[in-house]
Amino acid sequence: MRIYADNAATTRMSRRAIDAMLPYLSDIYGNPSSLHSIGQEAAQALFAARQTVAEQLGCEPRELTFTSGGSEADNMALVSAATLGAKKGKKHIISTAFEHHAVLHTLARLEKQGFEVTLLDVHENGLISAEEVEQAIRPDTCLVSVMYANNEIGTIQPIAEIGAVCRAHGVLFHTDAVQAVGHLPIDVVKQNIDLLSLSAHKFHGPKGIGALYARRGIALTNLIEGGAQERGKRAGTENVPAIASMAAALKEACENMEKNTAYVRALRDRLIEGLSKIPHGALNGDREHRLAGNVSFCFEGIEGESLLLLLDDKGVCASSGSACTSGSLDPSHVLLAIGRPHEVAHGSLRLTLSEENTEEEIDTIIRAVTETVEYLRGFSPVWRDLQSGKRAYILK
Ligand SMILES: *Cc1c(COP(=O)(O)O)cnc(C)c1O
Repeated sequence: MRIYADNAATTRMSRRAIDAMLPYLSDIYGNPSSLHSIGQEAAQALFAARQTVAEQLGCEPRELTFTSGGSEADNMALVSAATLGAKKGKKHIISTAFEHHAVLHTLARLEKQGFEVTLLDVHENGLISAEEVEQAIRPDTCLVSVMYANNEIGTIQPIAEIGAVCRAHGVLFHTDAVQAVGHLPIDVVKQNIDLLSLSAHKFHGPKGIGALYARRGIALTNLIEGGAQERGKRAGTENVPAIASMAAALKEACENMEKNTAYVRALRDRLIEGLSKIPHGALNGDREHRLAGNVSFCFEGIEGESLLLLLDDKGVCASSGSACTSGSLDPSHVLLAIGRPHEVAHGSLRLTLSEENTEEEIDTIIRAVTETVEYLRGFSPVWRDLQSGKRAYILK
């Protein structure tokens, strides 16, 4: 039996999401741009899906652009805001050191094109404050981009407050809400959000589909040129099956949000409590302001990669950080950003739960992690030095 605890990397599609997709993979296969009836049935699905997603975010359907996922939405948001800023001679952008690489790498490209980027430091608890954002705003700032919830350590930022600060200073505000949409209540108007990225496969929808919300009046820059799809802003025949499925998944996630959050949070708390008993380990990120399903720990004297592989042998599917960095030996930029030293950041473990997990699974995970950490420490030279006092413990 395998236990899936890597829901921040991706989720299993829900039955409703799969069912919503099927008609558009078979009978309703038309191109939404076609004027005949088969095409118009597909166009109708697109229209309905846009309506559904808009309702869940509190925006207008025409403020949504469907993309290939969260990464494309992030790229499009930043490039668009930068382009608008440059037209007014504003070429300063504020973001944080622990954003997803879809944001960080786009910012690096904009820097090469002459933009100046300030990456705010994140506190040890994985949070930043609206005041810190405000202090960084300059007359030439065109954009603030702060992620809603972090994909590695699950911390939730004060988005409405940051939005209010940006609005007051006339600066565009983007949030990468890929980990938040479908998990936390969102209202782009009340929260003063100008641009928001989402991705279906993080809320039990299909991979390869997402959306960018851009407040009315914010002109988007095309990343892909071609046909007139998505009001001319994102060319390419729409992925109708995935779009219909994403809308169904989001509706389902929002309908069940309260119930799922309460259930998953209880599992999370049980898991945190169990793993806290392992000596010389520590929870990453704030205990309170975190996603209901996120458990992220560092353990001293072990290698996160070895822990993962041994856990996989025991049927536990976890992660050492974000999927994008696994496979490389660099410690996670997120853990470094919250001030974990390299040697501690290497011993990281991320377990991200969903409503499909059970209490029995949590207890199995606790046993498996506890045994495996102990086993790995048994032949770790670092652990030997810590035990003999040659090296000082960093984690209590
Ligand atoms: C998964 C993720 C992305 C990328 O989304 P894709 O749809 O996989 O491109 C971006 N940002 C965050 C915070 C994520 O968790």
